[in-house]
Amino acid sequence: MELKDHSISSAHLNEDNLSMSQQPNIQNPVLNLDEVFQYAQSLKFGELHFKMDAKTGLFAIAAIHSTKLGPAIGGCRCIPYQTTQAAIIDAVRLAHMMSYKAAICGLPHGGAKSVLIRPAEIKDRKAYFESFGSFVHELNGRYVTAMDSGTDVADMDIISNVTPYVTCTTASGGGGDPSPYTATGVRRGIEAAVKFKLGRDDLKGIHVAIQGAGHVGYHLAKELHERGAILTVADIDSLHSEKCQREFNAKIVNSDEIYRVSCDVFAPCALGAILNSATIPLINAPIVAGSANNQLKDLVADDQRLFERGILYAPDFLINAGGLIQAASAYDHGSLDKAVDQIQHLYDAALNIFERAKAENKPTNHIALVIAEERLS
Ligand code: NAD
Repeated sequence: MELKDHSISSAHLNEDNLSMSQQPNIQNPVLNLDEVFQYAQSLKFGELHFKMDAKTGLFAIAAIHSTKLGPAIGGCRCIPYQTTQAAIIDAVRLAHMMSYKAAICGLPHGGAKSVLIRPAEIKDRKAYFESFGSFVHELNGRYVTAMDSGTDVADMDIISNVTPYVTCTTASGGGGDPSPYTATGVRRGIEAAVKFKLGRDDLKGIHVAIQGAGHVGYHLAKELHERGAILTVADIDSLHSEKCQREFNAKIVNSDEIYRVSCDVFAPCALGAILNSATIPLINAPIVAGSANNQLKDLVADDQRLFERGILYAPDFLINAGGLIQAASAYDHGSLDKAVDQIQHLYDAALNIFERAKAENKPTNHIALVIAEERLS
């Protein structure tokens, strides 16, 4: 069954009173649909669109948080989910943070995200992503899609067959894989944190423990190694960690151990919600700075926990914005040099947040959210 009118479930939502600290647990959501929509409402959405296409196995959710600052941009994630609610919540959480990410970087874009609930098997990837592309096209440019977990540049190329509202393609000026740019921004964030917390201007001998050596983690390891940092990595895929061991002399530890590594910087580059009441007490580093989206399981309580432990947290949605800056620039036909320059300046933006947080005696993510909200409103 192809639903011609994908907007059957579109919801135009208003403000309500759920606080940001009441984020649902996306790993094990026990929410009914009313609560899911209430959550979206609390984050001031926006639009939610759905498309189901039995022919290709597509079940897509497009969450558009805001188009106030421009067309909403955000990756297309294609992974399995335990429940439909979990997929919607993931789309909503991620789209919300994309608005903040675009706003804090001063980009002329709003935030969005799409989630494709990956079926057991995608029989025809071309048909699957063309079906998704036509869904994106029907949103008339209010949503611009991009690469994310479970999708790659080849998928973006397929989408570009049916809609111009896509970036990260291999076409000339299409942007390609944003991961190396994300890694550069994270490295700049780490440099700012090292300067602020440790008073150091370089990374020589700085020990960084990287959780997840995938697209971003690998490039981050490379940049850090080139600057003389010492690396420890953990990845559930041993091929990824072994590559870092071979190329950058990284020490490998298992996934449970990575939190406890005694080091200068813990860099989460794998999963969201990994900074929480169970993991924060284990961290043995004065700085947390990595690429993963939505690292704080609870935006308020876990930010506070890190603050109380004296751990400097580099807000994820700021320092992992390099890929967005580059992908948005490609979509807007901007200059790559300018985008790269802006990514380098994530150092100053991070330093400003650390200084303001110190002056106001507040956690860093709180300050970053306030700055983004000021721009959004
Ligand atoms: P990826 O899928 O290429 O890499 C993630 C890596 O983490 C994989 O190698 C995976 O095996 C590993 N991993 C998964 N669970 C793990 C665990 N429990 N312990 C250790 N390793 C584990 O993804 P990516 O593109 O490198 O993105 C990494 C993170 O950065 C994600 O949270 C993503 O949303 C975020 N991010 C990525 C970009 C980008 O440009 N790719 C931009 C902004 C944010």
